Amino acid sequence: STWWSSVSMGPPDVILGITEAYKRDTDPKKVNLGVGAYRDDEGKPFILPSVRQAEERLHCKMLNHEYAPIGGEAGYTDLVAQLAFGEDSPVLKEKSNCTVQTLSGTGALRLGLEFITKHYNQTKEIWMPSPTWGNHPQICNTLNLPHKQYRYYDKKTHGFDLCGAMEDISKIPAGSIILLHACAHNPTGVDPKKEEWIQLSQVIKDKKIFPFFDMAYQGFATGSVDNDAFAVRQFVNDGHQVMLAQSFAKNMGLYGERAGALTFLCGDAESAAKVMSQVKIMIRTMYSNPPLYGARIVQEILSVPELKQQWLADVKSMADRIISMRQQLRAGIEGAGNKQNWQHITDQIGMFCYTGLNADQVAKLTKDHHIYLTKDGRISVAGISSKNVNYVAEAMHKVTS
Ligand code: PMP
Repeated sequence: STWWSSVSMGPPDVILGITEAYKRDTDPKKVNLGVGAYRDDEGKPFILPSVRQAEERLHCKMLNHEYAPIGGEAGYTDLVAQLAFGEDSPVLKEKSNCTVQTLSGTGALRLGLEFITKHYNQTKEIWMPSPTWGNHPQICNTLNLPHKQYRYYDKKTHGFDLCGAMEDISKIPAGSIILLHACAHNPTGVDPKKEEWIQLSQVIKDKKIFPFFDMAYQGFATGSVDNDAFAVRQFVNDGHQVMLAQSFAKNMGLYGERAGALTFLCGDAESAAKVMSQVKIMIRTMYSNPPLYGARIVQEILSVPELKQQWLADVKSMADRIISMRQQLRAGIEGAGNKQNWQHITDQIGMFCYTGLNADQVAKLTKDHHIYLTKDGRISVAGISSKNVNYVAEAMHKVTS
């Protein structure tokens, strides 16, 4: 026996398991639609031109490798908060925010939820959309934070279930926390419309529920970072003191660099300072301080006007390619003579599409056509390219008719 003989085997990560099965498949037609990372039209990882330019500029600066401050560089946190809340946001001007760099979006969620377990003095219950990103409940489980679900996705329309969501939210106990995907909902690709966000903001305010936004895809949904920040800014305008997790994995393609941020809006500068003091203690005992490289790239892009312009164009180019693949996929399935309604493919937004395919159809797609995706029928539209879109459309037609 060893010191670890009592450890049991844990289940593999669902999404990474799909990629492994894809890698083992030797068929040249194989397609991986499981991966949650952007691919260019050649199916390759994409290094944004703005990121390249930022890297070159950083290289010339010959920066050292000293530690970052515990909460990250202020130059970084100020800029990322402005990107989320808007440059003229009053909450930033009055410095009532506490913003720290985190280990990308996951790190922001983990830190934020851990902070809740320790310092939140109301109903420690996290309400999540059904369905939601698998890591949301998992992080809560790790922290022993109870979590529940509110209705979000309507299986019949493949769209947002406004009535169900409003009804469920109106029954959430006061003081609870509601988790909201700011844009490009994962896994469904279904976002509330602007008028619907306004209604959600109202009911959440009336019921005294605390909103925690997860914004992992700012710019990825519509191609505009301001448009995609609509929900967050609407809530702030309506007087909510939100919490916000941000990630630059997708919108800057900085996946492995782990650049993200966590913001608490605290109402006034004094309580922001107190929250900051406690967040720093929490960070100090977990990983001491955040990594520099990705944050430096983000800071360079957001602070140099030409780079920022280039980046906005880069984000738009990614969003546009995804939108165009949605159109081609839908046209391909319909063009093959499929009689079902596929409008949701183009109505949904962001990296993912919830196709409506059931587990049997997904299994067929993988077994007969070498197309890999999660059992819930979610496809990563970023995995589709002009080369494989017809093949995927044909296959989806075949397994659904
Ligand atoms: N939230 C959601 C909804 C996501 O889809 C992701 C990425 N898969 C994240 C957070 C965080 O990703 P990362 O830690 O890479 O920033």
